[in-house]
Amino acid sequence: MAEPIIRLDNIVKKFGPLTVLDGLSMEVMPGEKLALIGPSGSGKTTILRILMTLETISGGFIQVDGDHLYHMKKAGSLVPADERHLHKMREKIGMVFQHFNLFPHKCVLDNVTLAPMLTKGVARSAAEKRAMELLDMVGLADKAKSMPAQLSGGQKQRVAIARALALSPKIMLFDEVTSALDPELVEEVLNVMRKLAAETDMTMLLVTHEMGFAHDFADRVLFFDRGKIVEEGKPDHIFRNPTQERTQTFLRKII
Ligand code: ADP
Repeated sequence: MAEPIIRLDNIVKKFGPLTVLDGLSMEVMPGEKLALIGPSGSGKTTILRILMTLETISGGFIQVDGDHLYHMKKAGSLVPADERHLHKMREKIGMVFQHFNLFPHKCVLDNVTLAPMLTKGVARSAAEKRAMELLDMVGLADKAKSMPAQLSGGQKQRVAIARALALSPKIMLFDEVTSALDPELVEEVLNVMRKLAAETDMTMLLVTHEMGFAHDFADRVLFFDRGKIVEEGKPDHIFRNPTQERTQTFLRKII
């Protein structure tokens, strides 16, 4: 039996007086495609940001790929992680954000090659070869020398996906990646994600309001409300036959 690649155990996250996650536990198996859905403010993005080490936790334990995140085992006890450890953990996870976050003064190719060259010491020629393969995969090889400002939102988001993939992460996190796009540009980004899901064995966690896409993409759907998992299950169960009233109310409003 395979071990979970992500294990969250009793996670508490507070922002000042506000408790955003209140004893959250969940596990994700290697290769699993997970959709996190639920009302705004229920803590979905916070979970992704914690996994990406962009936020720390107020309590609990997290294991990613067998290693503790934020705490390391030393001489049998857990001590806070140092920067080197966090750096190592960050390489296992790629994240794509709602607002692309491309480097505006770098061309598309440099956006994709920068992290492998700087953080992994990959030679420019090898980084560029890999970047061109990834840009080809997202349908943007011909834009390698363009600047981000010359691209549409959908194209920028596809570059951001290629950039996250350049470090060959085991886990990819997608945070409402189509929310900032004009409706006609959404599908080109979803198509890239469909392809990734079909052609790779990466573990993928997706926060989304695109319920149709979540249904087709996910192996499992988690419905969050107020920092807790209210209901989880196969897409058909959650979308067609939810048992919890809060899930039913949410889906009635959104679909
Ligand atoms: P979701 O992704 O489900 O919409 P979030 O994880 O973004 O929810 O936010 C959960 C709650 O945490 C919200 O109430 C939000 O306002 C709050 N929050 C998120 N980030 C911060 C922050 N940096 N400082 C204070 N509050 C925050």
